[in-house]
Amino acid sequence: MTQPQFDNSYARLPDRFFARQAPTPVAAPRLIALNRPLAARLGLDTDWLAGPEGLAMLSGNALPAGAEPIAQAYAGHQFGGFVPQLGDGRAVLLGEVVAPDGARFDLQLKGAGPTPFSRRGDGRAWLGPVLREYLVSEAFVGLGLPTTRALAAVATGERVIRDGFARPGAVLTRVAASHIRVGTFQYFSARGDLDALRTLCNTLISRHYPKADGVLDLLAAVVAAQARLIAGWMAVGFIHGVMNTDNMALSGETIDFGPCAFMDAYHPRKVFSSIDTQGRYAYGNQPQIALWNLAQFASCLLPLIGEGEAAVEATSGVLDGFIPAYQGEWLRRFGAKLGMSAATEADLPLIEALLERMATEGADFTRTFRGLITGRARDEFTDPAAFDTWAPGWQARIATEPDPQATMARANPIRIPRNHRIEQAITAALAEDFAPFHRLQAALADPFAENPDCADLEAAPWPEERVARTFCGT
Ligand code: AMP
Ligand code: MG
Repeated sequence: MTQPQFDNSYARLPDRFFARQAPTPVAAPRLIALNRPLAARLGLDTDWLAGPEGLAMLSGNALPAGAEPIAQAYAGHQFGGFVPQLGDGRAVLLGEVVAPDGARFDLQLKGAGPTPFSRRGDGRAWLGPVLREYLVSEAFVGLGLPTTRALAAVATGERVIRDGFARPGAVLTRVAASHIRVGTFQYFSARGDLDALRTLCNTLISRHYPKADGVLDLLAAVVAAQARLIAGWMAVGFIHGVMNTDNMALSGETIDFGPCAFMDAYHPRKVFSSIDTQGRYAYGNQPQIALWNLAQFASCLLPLIGEGEAAVEATSGVLDGFIPAYQGEWLRRFGAKLGMSAATEADLPLIEALLERMATEGADFTRTFRGLITGRARDEFTDPAAFDTWAPGWQARIATEPDPQATMARANPIRIPRNHRIEQAITAALAEDFAPFHRLQAALADPFAENPDCADLEAAPWPEERVARTFCGT
């Protein structure tokens, strides 16, 4: 049995990129979940991870040889207001591993105890948000969307106080292509540290965008990756909930599953996060917010791109590429959801008409699209006539498609991690019953496959089951 072999490129960067910080040991660690397929993908020894030394690492109780734990420095716009220093306040990056295919990944413990960036926080996480992040991030893998992942969840045997309740503590081992955020650039930009910005650009290029030729090209690659990502979220009805610039990873992966949610009934203004009182991060706002965040990123890069009007123009030219890239990807994805192999702008009115009717009629997002295959979509509308009057135009359009059923089957998942099922899994876990968590996780591994045992997980919530609010739970 072998422990992970670390190669810690970020810890080799200058000292001001992070604070060296070991995890704080916990009282009585217990393994709740170990992601064996992910361990295999990373080339890690699952038997070692599942054993006592693995548990010691995954809980922060012991550092394997080669780990160089750090808390990363970053800043960020939180709900539009700039905070010059945030940083990893409850997470510790153990180090990086290189998978058999050469891909490099961060191993980070979330909930590993206080760091110099903790401010007034305790540096800990509780079981609820840890299980939520595990479920939702791994569901993203099944849905084929870029995401950070969950290698393990460990109960700490300690209590953390949240909202006046003593909750069971937990640690999530997060795996990411990197944890470099828009906010990481902002941290150095706010300090006028051009050397650090250059170093970060080089790191980003070598880790994620090796084909990028220079800073402007890097920006273009990041813009393209975010356009693809956000269109992917929209196509599955995902609402991130806290698209602050510190929660946007420049790798193009989805990161920080706090008060996120998948919609049940479709509405473009849907918001779940308890702290998003203005609806800044509502479903339909996500593309605009992504662009706003990218503009913050671009402004950090400006001094590296050049001086004066020419640099500003070149940069905004690249940012201008976001909307068309996003719209193209949105059209491709929503076209496929309707069975079109190559939707064009001429198809937009048809797609938009369906969405408008879904919004008015409270139709379940996931079930309506999947129902296009089975003929049961109309049942999702309060007034099925709203669907029936739309359908003939759609049927005429896809009559010329070679295999619309197959296109739709690939684009429309049957299962998503529905809020009420996540809440039920967490409630059961609080009573030491982890079976609903494991069952939900397994059901989401292949969300496109029919599975007669999962009907309850595919159903929309009953009114009394509906979850209207989600919480950061930090
Ligand atoms: P988030 O809203 O989860 O993206 O976190 C925003 C900032 O708050 C980050 O700098 C976190 O590290 C920090 N933070 C969140 N929860 C805690 C906690 N329990 N203890 C210390 N810092 C925290
Ligand atoms: Mg965050």
